[in-house]
Parts: sequence; C-alpha cells; structure tokens
Amino acid sequence: MVVAVDGYSSTGKSTVAKLVAAKLGLMYIDTGAMYRAVTLKALREGAIDEGGRIDEEKVRELLKGMEIAFRVDGRDGRYETLLNGEPVEDEIRSMRVAESVSGIAALGFVREFLVEQQRELGRKGDVIMDGRDIGSVVFPDADVKFFMTATLQVRTERRYRELKAKGMEVGFEEVEENVKKRDYIDSHREVSPLVQVPDAVVVDNSCMTIEEEVDFMVKIIETKKGNGLRNEGGN
Ligand code: C5P
Repeated sequence: MVVAVDGYSSTGKSTVAKLVAAKLGLMYIDTGAMYRAVTLKALREGAIDEGGRIDEEKVRELLKGMEIAFRVDGRDGRYETLLNGEPVEDEIRSMRVAESVSGIAALGFVREFLVEQQRELGRKGDVIMDGRDIGSVVFPDADVKFFMTATLQVRTERRYRELKAKGMEVGFEEVEENVKKRDYIDSHREVSPLVQVPDAVVVDNSCMTIEEEVDFMVKIIETKKGNGLRNEGGN
C-alpha cells in the first residue's frame, strides 16, 4: 500500500503522516528531508553562494557521493535523517537550509536522483510518503492520496513555534516570508510543481486538532483498503 501526502509548506504533513504510519504499521518516508539533505550538502560544499546562487555542476558532482537514509531511534522513537551516515535531522530544519531548498528542489537532475530512491523505498513495503509530488509524479497510482492545506497564518505559527522550540533564533515575519516563498517556487517550478491532483482527498487542517486529522485520514485509508480499491478518483 502506498499513501501519498502532498501539500503546502508547514501544513503538518510529517506530524500526521508519522502518527498515521504508527497506527497502521506503515513505513513513513519524509521526502522533504531528502531535498533538505541535498541542500545541506550543497551549502557545506560551497555549491550555493552567499546570494543564494546555485552552482548546478557542483551539485551534480556532489550527488555522486551522496547517500541519504532514515533511522528511527529505538529509545525515543525519534525519526532521523542520515547524510552519508551522519545524523543531520536538526541541521536540515534550519532557516539556512529552508531558504535554499526550493531552489535545489527545482533542479530536474536532483529530482530524478531522489524520485528514483523514493520509488525504491516504496517498493520495499507499505509506505506513507509526504512531499509535494508524491501523488502526481512519484506514485501516480498511490492507493490513497491526501492534499494538505491550512491558512498562511496557521502554518506560519506552527513553523515558528517548532523552530523556537528547537532554540533557533528566528522572527515571525522571516518564517512567514519563507513559507510563502517556498510555496510560490514549489507551485511554479517547471519540473513536478506542487499541484492538487483531482483524485486527492483535501484536508484543510486550519481548524482541526492533530487527533481529528489522524482519525479522519485513518478512516479514509481503512475504507479504501476495505473496499480493496486502488485510487480511482473522487473522494
Ligand atoms: O516538506 P518540507 O517542507 O520539509 O520540504 C522542503 C522543501 O523540499 C519544499 O519546500 C520543496 O521545495 C521540496 N520538496 C519537493 N518535493 C518533495 C518534497 C519536498 O520539491 N516531494
């Protein structure tokens, strides 16, 4: 079974996808973390300059030695992204990475590199994968597709609180600008832009609790599973 969760930035996709995964015994895969890991590597290796300009050839070279993996900590259940074996979960969430990731994610060769790995992970078992192009490009035949959205205000508040909780020095307006800018670039890029596919179930979680959202999604997945249906359009 493949469950695709796409949507705008900071709609809480990963929070609910992890909980749905735990309830239904699915493997959770955070594809945004993969784009962030590539961005972190590009920043570290000087493939993105101070002005945010990307040296595409350098990024292409960097991909050759890059391995991205995930691990769930056995003690606290924390989900971690590994870049060539190094835990980078906190670093990939920084504003520095957030500011450059959408530019990196707009590069066709980066997407090809990561989409192939995502499809491979999906072939290994039952998965719930979150991102921007899961239902449209990575798994157009996904069994269930969700499209998450919420007001800009709610999304900014969530991301702001999350970064502050991690002890990062950020301003509310800076976070709001970043969320807006990423959504714009993600929705307008030439390769695999963020789109709401017609067969996705839309979840506007502006006024929902996480619990309500998870229950709603689990019900939909179980109904589809019970019906033995592939996603054939409509809700
Ligand atoms: O999901 P998250 O906010 O961590 O994703 C970071 C960025 O990675 C997005 O803003 C987008 O530019 C890119 N991304 C993408 N396709 C995906 C997942 C993420 O382009 N499937």
